[in-house]
Amino acid sequence: MLEITGVSHTYANGTQALSDVNLSIPRGMYGLLGPNGAGKSTLMRAIATLQVPSSGSIRFGDMDVLAEPEAVRRRLGYLPQDFGVYPRVSAYQMLDHMAVLKGIPGGERKAVVETLLNQTNLWAARNKAIAGFSGGMRQRFGIAQALIGNPDLIIVDEPTAGLDPEERNRFLNLLAGIGESVVVILSTHIVDDVADLCPRMAVLAGGKVQLEGAPATLIEQTNGRVWKKTIARDALEAHSAQQQVISTRLFAGSTIIHILADAPPPGFEPVNAGLEDVYFTTLADLRRAA
Ligand code: ADP
Ligand code: MG
Repeated sequence: MLEITGVSHTYANGTQALSDVNLSIPRGMYGLLGPNGAGKSTLMRAIATLQVPSSGSIRFGDMDVLAEPEAVRRRLGYLPQDFGVYPRVSAYQMLDHMAVLKGIPGGERKAVVETLLNQTNLWAARNKAIAGFSGGMRQRFGIAQALIGNPDLIIVDEPTAGLDPEERNRFLNLLAGIGESVVVILSTHIVDDVADLCPRMAVLAGGKVQLEGAPATLIEQTNGRVWKKTIARDALEAHSAQQQVISTRLFAGSTIIHILADAPPPGFEPVNAGLEDVYFTTLADLRRAA
């Protein structure tokens, strides 16, 4: 269990990126969903011991993450949002090098590196330079390096941004295979990443936790608030002026809109809410409160 208590962070330029974040993150896949600028990467870097937050505490099991960063790093796998430099060395060499840095003993290293290359489907490309990899291959390499040394705290920051649907699918399947005995935190702005994979999730926006729980429960709570109607495309503006439109789906000649309301206006039907409705409702509530 990862316990985040009262974590706030203000950058040197005065930007408050996190404001009193409290989360209990159990073993298994945990989704951290939020728009750009929500504070996801700031929180991930704090958990990964790369940036000490201005205040608050983070505990992983019986470890104090902020007080014992070295101990945490030995159990941590981290795939940053920007992996940075893509070297001209081969995937095999790079992974081997990173295994040395992680302290994997010489006698075990070959087996560890080969297993990871196979697990991430990069065996055939092991002798190619990472600099020439596609986005999907880079992200799979990113997971391979994050898994060195069997970490039981794994943090992946927006790993599917920029992947095509096939690569994304492959990547998510890889994550799903990591298992339920470790804490895996997946940050994303893509609702379907969370809907497909995560038994628990939180929505982060404006540096605050807006919502936390099991997707099914959150969906349950949203039913009865969202209504839909099929309209002509050129009627969207008129509807937006009258109703709180949270999403629009365009088809050839028409548009389906979802609105937020306590009761359905004439012509609107109830929506069987999905996680996207939960997310957009949360963001709409937040805008209205601002
Ligand atoms: P997310 O990952 O959800 O997009 P970030 O944690 O990257 O959010 O950013 C949260 C807020 O903090 C944003 O307003 C962003 O502009 C700001 N921010 C991020 N990094 C820095 C930094 N190094 N210095 C100043 N402000 C930053
Ligand atoms: Mg980010």
